[in-house]
Amino acid sequence: MVVRTAVESVTVRAPAKVNLHLSVGPLRGDGFHDLTTVFLAVSLYDELTLTTSAGLTVTVEGEGASDVPLDHSNLAARAVLALAARSGRVPDVGVRIRKGIPVAGGCAGGSADAAAALVACDALWGLGMSREELAEVGAELGSDVPFALHGGTALGTGRGECLTPILGAGTYSWVLALAEGGLSTSTVYAELDRQREHGPLSVVGDSAKVLTALRKGSADALGRALSNDLQAPALALKPDLGRLLTCGADLGALGGVVSGSGPTVAFLARDTAHATGLAAALSRHGVCRLVHVAESPAPGARLHRTD
Ligand code: ATP
Repeated sequence: MVVRTAVESVTVRAPAKVNLHLSVGPLRGDGFHDLTTVFLAVSLYDELTLTTSAGLTVTVEGEGASDVPLDHSNLAARAVLALAARSGRVPDVGVRIRKGIPVAGGCAGGSADAAAALVACDALWGLGMSREELAEVGAELGSDVPFALHGGTALGTGRGECLTPILGAGTYSWVLALAEGGLSTSTVYAELDRQREHGPLSVVGDSAKVLTALRKGSADALGRALSNDLQAPALALKPDLGRLLTCGADLGALGGVVSGSGPTVAFLARDTAHATGLAAALSRHGVCRLVHVAESPAPGARLHRTD
């Protein structure tokens, strides 16, 4: 006879994202910008373990852990509270976060943690919610949360939360290189607004080149098409990023782009071996604090283990 015991602990992994294309519309009346972006999930993960406990607590381990809040402002804690409110549960959960995604790096690590917490709570509490329902809760927490649930490759519109899957987009190898220090997303958007106020409107245009490259599965074409309206303001705030981008190009990357609001730079390589060599060369040149090799596409937030 099989005896089912209640699930007491759930471990979920959620991926980092890079933006292959990010075009930012003018500032709206409500303080937001309309975006068109091509999201790609890469194989760099945060791992969250949620355990039934006496109350809601958060612990964080890994690179950059000291910059992550442990109170209820942590995006994973906010996700637990949001799902508890929606399902009428008490948020009696201990959240343990192991960071593999750079903190404040433009790779949406906080959003990945929110997505992972939603999937974990759903399993821990046996709610049986659909991905769409979880994404609805996630979109309230942050624009990138629905994509962290979705994974793969997708076109994002609105604030980035309206997703259209891009199928058959090919597989690619990346080097994610982290410049020294973090960049706050709101500061980078403010710098973009300032630059546009004081000069001609700089725009990267539409996503057609990136979408065509993905359709062809051509790494060379994708490398040439990478584009981000937040790159110019990020470079203005952190000139070291320019040196990093130039160095990657000189070392043979097929292309390089600041991911989101930075300061992570994503370099596209021909294959894993090329990415590994490029990562080692970037480290030797001392132009970045840390490098990771990653593959894409990666799946969205997924159950890894239940106990
Ligand atoms: P954004 O999603 O705004 O582009 P980002 O990807 O650059 O952000 P994140 O790692 O998500 O960077 O962190 C942004 C800020 O969010 C951090 O400085 C941190 O104070 C806060 N934060 C809240 N919860 C988390 C979390 N679980 N992990 C990381 N940062 C978090």
